[in-house]
Amino acid sequence: MSVKENLNKITNQIENAKKKVKREDEVLLLAVTKTIDYDLIDKSIEWGVRDIGENKVQDLLKRMDHYGDKVNYHFIGGLQRNKVKDIIGKVKLIHSVDSLRLAKEIDKRAKNIDIIQDCLIQVNVSKEESKSGVYLEELEQFVYNILELSNIKIKGLMTMAPYEAKENELREIFSRLQDAFNNIKNKNIKEIDMDYLSMGMSSDFEIAIEYGANIVRIGSSIYGDRNY
Ligand SMILES: *Cc1c(COP(=O)(O)O)cnc(C)c1O
Repeated sequence: MSVKENLNKITNQIENAKKKVKREDEVLLLAVTKTIDYDLIDKSIEWGVRDIGENKVQDLLKRMDHYGDKVNYHFIGGLQRNKVKDIIGKVKLIHSVDSLRLAKEIDKRAKNIDIIQDCLIQVNVSKEESKSGVYLEELEQFVYNILELSNIKIKGLMTMAPYEAKENELREIFSRLQDAFNNIKNKNIKEIDMDYLSMGMSSDFEIAIEYGANIVRIGSSIYGDRNY
């Protein structure tokens, strides 16, 4: 299958998943380009991709050099504090804010260049040891702590489900994050905009959409298997 065919298929799957739960709002397809060759990424941009994501700072910076302002950039991986300065202000969203120390560094660097950086809080719903993210029980307090920082703006939540999770487990995880998202949204805190719920990858995005995901992060279903 070509990138074009893959994108068509995914677009249909997104629309069908939305119909299933009678959603009419937009779902952003975030193309995850890690390790992918430029000819394939070029094709995906040609066929409508406007947002790309990487999980390593060096790799994201290379994509920025290559594509300039042709696309929007998202950082979706573990972010070391000493690398925040390299991406601050250049990314539409940092999906992976998972500690107050990191949030403070983002706030400080954003202040330095007089911008407000939009971010998502990464939540570790299933408490997998191998994954980062705040736990659901800590989330509300975490949100209030970040509110004190004036140059970082919370725009929503992100999670990664375990790779081996079965369908019922995925539904449980996505529905718990959707509840947490709505709880925060319903507080109508003026300093934050709960615009984005980033969940769902190649193997589980259709289910995530049933639970309100409006950013799906998809790599291998667009580009084929990665060569690590
Ligand atoms: C790699 C990655 C994805 C995409 O994974 P696929 O299974 O290839 O769709 C999504 N989110 C994050 C955080 C990733 O690192």
